[in-house]
Amino acid sequence: MSKLYLHDTLSRKKKKFEEIKPGEVGLYTCGPTVYNYAHIGNLRTYIFEDILKRVLKYNGYKVKHVMNITDVGHLTGNMDMGEDKLEKGARREGKTAWEIAKFYEKAFINDLKKLNIEMPDKWTRATEYIDEQINLIKVLENKGYTYKTSDGIYYDTSKFKNYNKLSHLDIETLREGARVEKNEEKKNPTDFALWKFSPHGKKRQMEWESPWGIGFPGWHIECSAMSMAELGDNLDIHCGGIDHINIHHTNEIAQSEAAYPDKNFFNYWLHGAFLNIQGGKKMAKSDDNFLTLQNTFLDKNIDPLVYRFACLQTHYRKPMEYSEEAMKNAEKGLNHLKNQFRNFGEISGKVSEEFKSKFLEEINNNLNMPKALAVVQEMLKSDLSNEDKKATLLEFDSEILGVGITDLDIKVGDDIKILEQQRLKARKEKNWQESDRLRDEIEDMGYIVEDSKDGMRIIRK
Ligand code: AMP
Ligand code: ZN
Repeated sequence: MSKLYLHDTLSRKKKKFEEIKPGEVGLYTCGPTVYNYAHIGNLRTYIFEDILKRVLKYNGYKVKHVMNITDVGHLTGNMDMGEDKLEKGARREGKTAWEIAKFYEKAFINDLKKLNIEMPDKWTRATEYIDEQINLIKVLENKGYTYKTSDGIYYDTSKFKNYNKLSHLDIETLREGARVEKNEEKKNPTDFALWKFSPHGKKRQMEWESPWGIGFPGWHIECSAMSMAELGDNLDIHCGGIDHINIHHTNEIAQSEAAYPDKNFFNYWLHGAFLNIQGGKKMAKSDDNFLTLQNTFLDKNIDPLVYRFACLQTHYRKPMEYSEEAMKNAEKGLNHLKNQFRNFGEISGKVSEEFKSKFLEEINNNLNMPKALAVVQEMLKSDLSNEDKKATLLEFDSEILGVGITDLDIKVGDDIKILEQQRLKARKEKNWQESDRLRDEIEDMGYIVEDSKDGMRIIRK
């Protein structure tokens, strides 16, 4: 079996994957802050992580996957300033912060299911690990890494050697980035809150007693405390989007390795590139018009797995640009694949060892999904029997791709409906040339057009 290679942000290299405990992998993926719907940019990162987990399993590893739900402590400014995003969401919707968290957590899980993303073995909610977070802060306090300001307990980043080891930026550049939010009481701009006090004379909806006063944990401490609590000695792989490198993950490493210097806080760090909107701008929750799975796919009757398929066509370390055009092409490609699968007849063949090993080589080369999809195409064009093609495609899809190849219910999307209306109009106007052109266009998208004297019928190929 070919070896698995993964690109590690920490060493900036593609490294052969070696687990800590034989045959087991601990995987921690930073989860959502549940104050709003996930946008399809966030979902791109979760799709990449799902592929990683499936690839690990396909290589025979037993994976323990933990994902957090940030339901407290993530402030609107990333550097411990501003309002708690959950409390802000609660104000926006006239609900409690707890209701907001519950509602958006459910919406998030629904999105994952629609994208065929396997559920983690363990969900960890920040509000359910307050003791673990307090204990970790106590360890840091005992070791002299903390100091107190008027609004909380802070981590002194100047005391941690190699604070920049994940970002590979010089300290001054990191400090410059952190100066965006001014906090005169911090010793260094990169210092961050471990525990924040509830504002004087004001009761927060989410707050807890602590040795330092009533308040709530900072955002970074949750991932350190929860990953160590749940993965114990299996601190193998930690993932997130690239925006987490310079602050969130840098701070997680600083806290965890300051508290427990004898072991690496995760051996491999993998980061997914952004989904951008046209023009190269990052899709962000703070922009109010972000795209969700609901408004971009489900409302338009487009199968969400079209998005998954589109994501697989770009390597996870490369930026991807969203456009309707790209989604239309992905829909066409996916429908074509499903039609081929359907037309191969019974599933009575066997998986081709030759193509399985080619496929494995690509997915094991730092999850090169575009190349893995090229292997799928090569296999489909090869002289394998239809039965073997069907069995091979089925295995690739059920184990890794997850694009729902067996789902024969191809939806007639809005695009087709629009073309249908245009063609009916052309026919009424006896514009046969346009009518033929539109028929070709619909057929190119994987459908058959049948004309009758009463109108026309569009069916799957
Ligand atoms: P958040 O809910 O903002 O903490 O983000 C959840 C996950 O989505 C994190 O791993 C982020 O790094 C990632 N993320 C945020 N914006 C984007 C984007 N535009 N494209 C891809 N991933 C993103
Ligand atoms: Zn995290």
